[in-house]
Amino acid sequence: MSEVRAKKKFGQNFLQDKNIINNIIEEANIDSDTLVIEIGPGTGALTRHLVLKAGYLIAYEIDTDLVPLLEEEFKDKQFKVVNQDILTVNLEEEISKYKDKYSNVVIVGNLPYYITTPIILGLLEKNLDVKAYVFMVQLEVAERLTAIKGGKEYNALSVLINYKTKASKCFNVSPNAFKPVPGVWSAVIKMVPREYHIKPKNEKFFLELNRAIFKQRRKTLANNLQNFNIKKDKINEALKKLDLKPTCRSEELSVEEIIKLSDILGE
Ligand code: SAM
Repeated sequence: MSEVRAKKKFGQNFLQDKNIINNIIEEANIDSDTLVIEIGPGTGALTRHLVLKAGYLIAYEIDTDLVPLLEEEFKDKQFKVVNQDILTVNLEEEISKYKDKYSNVVIVGNLPYYITTPIILGLLEKNLDVKAYVFMVQLEVAERLTAIKGGKEYNALSVLINYKTKASKCFNVSPNAFKPVPGVWSAVIKMVPREYHIKPKNEKFFLELNRAIFKQRRKTLANNLQNFNIKKDKINEALKKLDLKPTCRSEELSVEEIIKLSDILGE
């Protein structure tokens, strides 16, 4: 693909480093039985390697200018590019169309950093039948994966990732691996879906509550719950049952405690 000018508004930082690209492909661990979904193929740095291993590759790219270039380069491969904002894609429906043909689904992407959190929250809140997610994210986001309660990195994303997956940081990536060079370090993360050892009674309510309690980090848990339309006496009763102080903040709660809170408040 000829030289393409990166667009800042789409978070375009194209991968240049061959070793990093190879390491990502290795982490994705795909074979001809795998349907690969790539988020933001850009100029094809990862796509070029993914198409050689995957049974089929569906790439979602928002930048209309890049779509014909990708179509041309991969026209002879098991590949399609969809010119759509990933946040609006019904992946459940799309994946179900390929279920009979491929036994595994892996979702890969060097994610656009301006929407990393909504992308990961959106994917994990659905119950997609996926073997693994392998993403390049900002190092700061990668640190949220392993964040434990109380830390400043701990938020709704950390809770969701811990609840839904076994997550790990694979390796750090220097800004020099990209063009244009971003202002921050990055990291590759891998998330493997799994069943958490306890289940909320109502998962939909738990997911909504998880987003709501971290909405205003400067406020207490009780304030955030009130903004989520829960009555004050119900909140006080729940805090008491869980042995939490009225001044407690959401980041002080473990995943288990948030599940228990949702069970009490959802009754
Ligand atoms: N995969 C390429 C690479 O590693 O060189 C490009 C990665 S670049 C960081 C992110 C890519 O995501 C860009 O191609 C950008 O146009 C695309 N993108 C940005 N927002 C998107 C969205 N909402 N939906 C789909 N693709 C998006």
